Amino acid sequence: MEIEAMYQQLGVSPAVYAYGESVLRQLRSRFDAIDATAEYNQGKVLAAMQKNRVNATHFAATTGYGYDDEGRDNLERVYADVFHTEAALVRPQITCGTHALTVALSANLLPGDELLSPVGAPYDTLEEVIGIRESKCSLREYGVTYAQADLRSDGSFDYDAIRSAINHRTKLITIQRSKGYATRPSFSVAQIGELIAFCKSVKPDVKIMVDNCYGEFVERLEPSDLGADMVVGSLIKNPGGGLAPIGGYICGTRECVERCAYRLSAPGLGQEVGANLGLMPAFYQGLFLSPTVVSGALKGAVFAANVYEGLGFSCVPGAAEERHDIIQAVTLGSREAMMAFCKGIQAAAPVDSYVTPEPWAMPGYDSEVIMAAGAFIQGSSIELSADGPIRPPYAVYFQGGLTWYHAKLGILMSLQKLVEAGEVTLSA
Ligand SMILES: *Cc1c(COP(=O)(O)O)cnc(C)c1O
Repeated sequence: MEIEAMYQQLGVSPAVYAYGESVLRQLRSRFDAIDATAEYNQGKVLAAMQKNRVNATHFAATTGYGYDDEGRDNLERVYADVFHTEAALVRPQITCGTHALTVALSANLLPGDELLSPVGAPYDTLEEVIGIRESKCSLREYGVTYAQADLRSDGSFDYDAIRSAINHRTKLITIQRSKGYATRPSFSVAQIGELIAFCKSVKPDVKIMVDNCYGEFVERLEPSDLGADMVVGSLIKNPGGGLAPIGGYICGTRECVERCAYRLSAPGLGQEVGANLGLMPAFYQGLFLSPTVVSGALKGAVFAANVYEGLGFSCVPGAAEERHDIIQAVTLGSREAMMAFCKGIQAAAPVDSYVTPEPWAMPGYDSEVIMAAGAFIQGSSIELSADGPIRPPYAVYFQGGLTWYHAKLGILMSLQKLVEAGEVTLSA
């Protein structure tokens, strides 16, 4: 009763609250499974921190060149142990996920080499990195070509097409774990492992990079456990645990990571330079919290799919489906419904809760985009946020939530706004 009153104070009506509770009652075993994975991954992170004897000196700030930055170097050993790789590059100088991926690609591809994506088109921002869309300083401008094998219509790997796309110039294969904002399914780590094994059977010395964004700690294994030479991601998504204010990581073989470090700083300097600027407490503690933060976001995604599928909206992944990342797409079917949904997410935020999201013509998009986010860290998508292009089928992509309770409130508020806008009617 007290809780219901609290939700009412926050703006959730008794009818919306009751519907949410009825959905939640069906989700106990799903949530138990998510908790068990978080518990396993918490152990994995703790073991890596203990093995590397993390102590207070590792949290000290360094400036300038950052030579002998023991906190930074040890954090990289911790990441390498969490992802079971030989080496890791984890830096605030890596400004975002796209930057981390760019470093990994440009460090490991030379003029005349070919990059292959066997899983269809890569994430939007990579199109300019690769040169699929023309851009200054693209890989293409440096003489690196690109090939792509599309997924089959059912979302599965087209092994014949992949085999024939691999040639003597194929140097690196990039696999995107999460669907991002595409309509294909996200891949499980097991599926990625099969794809890696297949590619290596066709060409044993080919290097495999996995764009791990949004996937970290969703499962017990990571793609680096199944043969990926590099896994790459952003610290303002899962592994930063909501605390890292910037940064990216590349975990992988010593050979690949060393090249990445040379590319990021300068040939000859590599991992030796790069001051930590006082960010080590956030990086260590964020990684420590990440498994539980990811579990909260996952519960939110499962709850959202069940709330909205139950009301007749189509959801990807579906309400009953296994999760491979933290993104939830909900097809709302109209501009008005998208606006109401985003209004609810915004109203539930700890920051900027009083603003109303409006559609805007974002550069680089061919339709208006609406976004709701009230984040402590700008653009952080491990924090609760929702966005989508205003065009058919009018789908919003919903992700994050630093705590399950906040994700729950966001979803209830989104439904509340849909009810108030007359887009949804709850039966008694
Ligand atoms: C977010 C994301 C990126 C890019 O990360 P930014 O930090 O936005 O540059 C790349 N790939 C995938 C799959 C992502 O989800």
